[in-house]
Amino acid sequence: MLAFLICGAASSQETKNKKSDIDAKVYELLSKMTLEEKVGQMTQITVTIFEDPSKPGYFDAAKLKQGIQDYHIGSILNVPNPGAPTLKRWQETLTAISNEANKSRLKIPVLYGIDAIHGASYTAGATLFPQQIGLAATFNTNLVKRGAEISAYETRASSIPWVFSPDLDFPRNPAWSRMWESFGEDAYLSSQMAVALVNGFEGNNNVGSKYSVASCMKHYIGYGSTTTGKDRTPSIIPERLLRQYDLTIYQAAIKAGAKSVMISSGEINGTPVHASKHLITDILKKELGFKGVVVTDWKDIIYLNTRHKVAETKRDAVRIAVMAGIDMSMVPEEFSFYTDLVNLVQSGEVPMSRIDDAVTRILRMKFELNLFQNTVADLKDYPKFGSAEHIQEAYNTAAESITLLKNKEAVLPLNKTEKILVTGATANSMKYLNGGWSYNWQGENSDTYAADKSTILEAFQNKLGKENVLYTAGADLEKENDVEIQKAVDLAKDASKIVLCLGEKNYTETPGDISNLYMSPSQIKLALALSKLNKPIILVLNEGRPRLISDFEDKMSAVVQCYLPGNEGGRALVDILYGDVNPSGRLPYNYPRYPNSLEKYNRKYTESISEGEQNNDATYEKSYLPQFEFGTGLSYTTFSYSNLKIDKTEINNTDEINVSVDVTNSGKRAGKESVLLYLSDNFASITPEFKSLKRFEKISLEPNETKTIKFTLNQKDLQFVNEDLKWIAEKGTFTIQIANQKKDFLLR
Ligand code: BGC
Repeated sequence: MLAFLICGAASSQETKNKKSDIDAKVYELLSKMTLEEKVGQMTQITVTIFEDPSKPGYFDAAKLKQGIQDYHIGSILNVPNPGAPTLKRWQETLTAISNEANKSRLKIPVLYGIDAIHGASYTAGATLFPQQIGLAATFNTNLVKRGAEISAYETRASSIPWVFSPDLDFPRNPAWSRMWESFGEDAYLSSQMAVALVNGFEGNNNVGSKYSVASCMKHYIGYGSTTTGKDRTPSIIPERLLRQYDLTIYQAAIKAGAKSVMISSGEINGTPVHASKHLITDILKKELGFKGVVVTDWKDIIYLNTRHKVAETKRDAVRIAVMAGIDMSMVPEEFSFYTDLVNLVQSGEVPMSRIDDAVTRILRMKFELNLFQNTVADLKDYPKFGSAEHIQEAYNTAAESITLLKNKEAVLPLNKTEKILVTGATANSMKYLNGGWSYNWQGENSDTYAADKSTILEAFQNKLGKENVLYTAGADLEKENDVEIQKAVDLAKDASKIVLCLGEKNYTETPGDISNLYMSPSQIKLALALSKLNKPIILVLNEGRPRLISDFEDKMSAVVQCYLPGNEGGRALVDILYGDVNPSGRLPYNYPRYPNSLEKYNRKYTESISEGEQNNDATYEKSYLPQFEFGTGLSYTTFSYSNLKIDKTEINNTDEINVSVDVTNSGKRAGKESVLLYLSDNFASITPEFKSLKRFEKISLEPNETKTIKFTLNQKDLQFVNEDLKWIAEKGTFTIQIANQKKDFLLR
């Protein structure tokens, strides 16, 4: 532990000294810069990285040269084309960028940013973890932090110091095409996971280490809450709710030290976020005290003119965004941002103080990252890149994320002697396991770049021997195909159990928009056709958002949600299905049953109906019946809870309250359990939530072992945002709930 503290994290005195040292360097450098050099720092361009070795340095050298020499650009972001360069190629590319920067007057290093969102996913051979939604399902912040450390290590090995992660979006509609990039529907769970990722990426406030990267919280704010459920469409979010939920996630990540933030491409209540001084300068920079870099999303300044139409010209768009508080423009369209901004400062429409604020933030991040000393990785420093040790961590994370939602008559674990039919459109492809942002934007390259990894089918074959696994695809995500369905039905006759793998195409952003939340028709047909055989079906869901399965779920014996589990996900899943690993994931969102029933677990109204019950008394309170509720996650063992204790039954407005509960493994095998503490405020001036998650801890228990788990709640946990936009705790009774145990206390 001590050793870890010495090399892993900086002490607070050390951090303070480093900060004032860096501030002095930034001040000195800034004072030497011309207006043009300053505006250049605020410009981030794309330079395509080619796979074609005949291209000098494998990237667009002419564009880079023009960017640095003529426009003094401060930053570059990905786009490898078509896929994932090797470590060596990244090293060559960053060397060329660094050489070009060294020819400039002030030799300011260029900051390279990349969408390494579940591992260094643009580098060949990198370790790929589950996507964020799966990380949330682990309910294990230590594991998630370790994964971020590995992602940081492998990204720095690729000579890249800045990742556009974590995603702190707070999705209000599961149809949203980036649901899987989020931590799901709960703000507290999201905050805890955000802190784990930021600390992992940034090495516990030690971002200058050669094994750390700067993180980038995104997409500030309200991006994941579009009213239509479609990407980059408007949101309507009252500020009270923005503060109660969305902002708390950012607040936690900022407190953990997050170095940068990316702005949402959307608009809230009619104002594009890129144009909102209220959200960027007043709330983010002033109220939350964020000192890092604010970068736009892709071309979003221009879109203020062409899409949102709040700026009559592109020049005006630049003025609005920079005055709102933007520090860096991502993809500034052939340098018009640069030209316009220089002109806006010269004409006095944008004050130099605003430019200095932006450039100070950018230079500070470059110094903190140690880029002035070192922009290119020495590959000898990274022997663990893609190593067995890293792969094992990705496997462990996938294994802890996979969530057993249903296990009728203990149909799982499977027995190796049973004849199994593996079928379904997602059974034999890496791209569905990895999802988007894997080797390229939409993730369609996984089957090439992760060819040595096991698909679900291959993991079955490796475990049982190829000859012992029956397989046919059964369905296709691209087209309807009844012939395949018949093949699956015929093969199933020889099997004693069926593993049916359903899901979605790989996707992200606008190409991932859907107009129907149901599973695709051919997949539903396949499920219904197989269910007529009256054989146990294990439904494996490989999807980034909950696609409705209510048409056939009752005919499935078991349901396993594997999300987008990454390169090791196929193996982890099959180990769980055979009981070599005991499942311990929990659902980080409500799985809806119907497209018009998108209530979250922390809904306002309390009554629910049971399946099949007649809803004669059709009040809106009675519409709550998710297919599976937030927090659902079964195990092959059982856990029992007892002895819930609180140290006070009455508290005043400064007291903390200590809670303990005993958790026993009452089954026959070792297992992991996430202990979830919910709190209900029984009456309040704003309709209280039914219950809200306030604490969680994941533990391991041997059979018959009991552990006492302790939590402390503080006043903040009792508060909500009232009509005056103030966080307050109101007097009255509260109920603490952990599993089936409940206790009340009174706030005097
Ligand atoms: C996405 C961001 C991403 C950026 C850079 C945008 O289209 O919305 O999440 O970081 O592109 O690739």
